[in-house]
Amino acid sequence: LPRPIELLDSALVEIRSTRDEIKVKDAIVHWFRSDLRVRDNKALRLASERAREKGALLITMYIVSPQDFEAHFTSPARVDFILRTLQELKDDLAKLNIPLYVETIEKRKRIPGRIVDLLEAWGANHLFANMEFEVDELRRDESLVRACLEKGIAMDVLPDNCVVHPGRLATGTRNQYSVYTPWFRSWIAHIHENPELLELSEEPLKNPASMRERYVKIFDRTIPTAPRNKMLKDEEKRRFQSIWPAGEREAHERLKIFVQQRIGDYKEHRNFPGENATSSLSVHFATGTLSARTAVRTARDHNRTKRLDGGNVGIETWISEIAWRDFYRHVLAHWPYICMNKPFKSEYALVEWEYDQDKFKAWCEGRTGYPIVDAAMRQLNYCGWMHNRCRMVVASFLAKHLLIDWRMGERYFMEHLIDGDFASNNGGWGFSSSTGVDPQPYFRIFNPLLQSEKFDSEGEYIKRWIPELRGIEGKAVHDPYGRGKGAEAEKSGYPKHMVDHRESRDRCLARYKEVLGRR
Ligand code: FAD
Repeated sequence: LPRPIELLDSALVEIRSTRDEIKVKDAIVHWFRSDLRVRDNKALRLASERAREKGALLITMYIVSPQDFEAHFTSPARVDFILRTLQELKDDLAKLNIPLYVETIEKRKRIPGRIVDLLEAWGANHLFANMEFEVDELRRDESLVRACLEKGIAMDVLPDNCVVHPGRLATGTRNQYSVYTPWFRSWIAHIHENPELLELSEEPLKNPASMRERYVKIFDRTIPTAPRNKMLKDEEKRRFQSIWPAGEREAHERLKIFVQQRIGDYKEHRNFPGENATSSLSVHFATGTLSARTAVRTARDHNRTKRLDGGNVGIETWISEIAWRDFYRHVLAHWPYICMNKPFKSEYALVEWEYDQDKFKAWCEGRTGYPIVDAAMRQLNYCGWMHNRCRMVVASFLAKHLLIDWRMGERYFMEHLIDGDFASNNGGWGFSSSTGVDPQPYFRIFNPLLQSEKFDSEGEYIKRWIPELRGIEGKAVHDPYGRGKGAEAEKSGYPKHMVDHRESRDRCLARYKEVLGRR
């Protein structure tokens, strides 16, 4: 069966071959999806150039799709972040006389038809967008390309979401890489051979001011509120706004500060959750308020070698982390079945998972009795974000210590993360449960106590998120009942270990071995 990305490619070829018959009239449209920015946005820039050439109005639009939010388990914090970003984007575009039209469409299968209706109503016959790689999104685009074609409307879907577009890298035997390290070597070499991949895409050209007056109705659309089931309470709204200010100006400011002040020490400090050593830019990459290309280019320009590698190890390491984001998108585009609840490695589909709701709830609420796990889950629940080291620890704990189906954890993350991103989240869960691409071997099981002592040795992070343990001194904070006397923790109500590490480890090894032995 052709992969969705191939279906879309063939539909685009069809539309390109009929391009000559398509006459552009009064408007050119850019459809924003996960690229909510003005700067360094390829499709937006190209749309504006085409509009200038044709003397047409450039209109931009965004579709709020409650059904998409449902299907992707998008967290209320993330929905709120997107809506706040849209307001900023609308204001930035208004300075360029470019309208942002926002509409809510309940049923997502109606989206292509409604877009074609809007294009016709606006007299637009050229639509631009940047490509997304999830299966439903590729299929939606494929049907939109075909619907546009029937009406004589051109559509361009550009490769802008990754630094290197999926399909560009292949192993010596012309296959997709499934292991990160050789893939990364090839990624770096490809960018060095094609430096234009990092070139800045200029800001969109302005619409003439006179057009703004003519199209006042389109300019006047207000940004909708969140669908009812994705609404935040007032206190949550204030909290997320203050932790995560929205918009691309904020993204650039964070990038600037990170590159000037922290990137040099990134390699050494990035694994310590108690430190503010990483960029906290994931929400901006996920929403598209910052392009991965901009970030890699900025880091490269700060490197004394002016290359992606060599020079400053902090810069080199940070770039290799952004590459993980590309890697997981390449995996998704190549093996789309991972979008359908299937593990990357089919043999792991046979692992007998458990579905104990009480244990799952204790994990979600940060009540496992393992302080590092509990601190991390409480950070997630409060901030909508969790440090990468802790994401690995809690994911491994759920899948391996509790043997709970990793897909329940994957979903819980999406329902709570502000940076929830299918490819990276699925990749992270696959990695941590050893069921994914480039897996840790199943027998490598994180010991949460050792992880805690190694990466939060003073218990600073633990005490920040678990007030019950603030009075505990020394190393006992990692294991208040085992290493400490326990009285203090007991008084505060902090729970005992819900499972024993050694027993869980043995149980997990036996369960995985059973499946691998069956083959
Ligand atoms: P930095 O350390 O500053 O890294 C810079 C950027 O590189 C990140 O913003 C991110 O875009 C990318 N990146 C870094 N590490 C990874 C990685 N392991 N995989 C993919 N991209 C990476 N990241 C998400 O953006 N959304 C998710 O839904 C998500 N879910 C995850 C689930 C699990 C179980 C695991 C183990 C990891 C997950 N990650 C996810 C990856 C990573 O944890 C976050 O990107 C990172 O913690 C974000 O913090 P930062 O922006 O400060 O990262």
